[in-house]
Amino acid sequence: MQPRVLRLFRRHVGFNPNPISARSRAIVPRTTGADVTVSVCPYCAVGCSQLVYTKQGRVIDVEGNPASPINAGTLCPKGAATRGLLQSPLRIAELLYRRPFGTAWEHKPLAWAMDRIADLVKETRDNTWQERDEQGRRVNRTLGIGHLGGATLDNEENYLIKKLFTAGLGIVAVENQARI
Ligand code: SF4
Repeated sequence: MQPRVLRLFRRHVGFNPNPISARSRAIVPRTTGADVTVSVCPYCAVGCSQLVYTKQGRVIDVEGNPASPINAGTLCPKGAATRGLLQSPLRIAELLYRRPFGTAWEHKPLAWAMDRIADLVKETRDNTWQERDEQGRRVNRTLGIGHLGGATLDNEENYLIKKLFTAGLGIVAVENQARI
């Protein structure tokens, strides 16, 4: 509003059209004074850049990085909810198992699950191992096991998975959710 119009408005109408209370002036963003770390959204192959705000070592906010040429400060709803990956009270933090044809979840220790996975991988690999294909070519593979990784796996984990599962175990079907 132009100054002259504003003066006339105040004189005749008697109230300020742009009121800002002392309380509003005192309010600051919750990220004020926080440490900021540049990171990358863990969820998909777009690779949006994030700003992670922490206070006393605890994440208080995750926002899009305006300096990124990929996302220019924006995040999709999934990326915008990244903080929940760390801190949501709804996250299940214990191992649950539902046996074949079972109707209820059972609580199991992690060591039990690791042993079961190792036993099933060994058994399946032994039962489906192919040294040569139908034309006699050496393949040294199993088509009986597949692996689908999640987008929250980092580069180092994916490197180890690829190395172990293909060169180590002869698994051909190795994929990642971020590429699908
Ligand atoms: S999940 Fe969303 S915010 Fe995260 S990298 Fe993909 S598009 Fe970007």
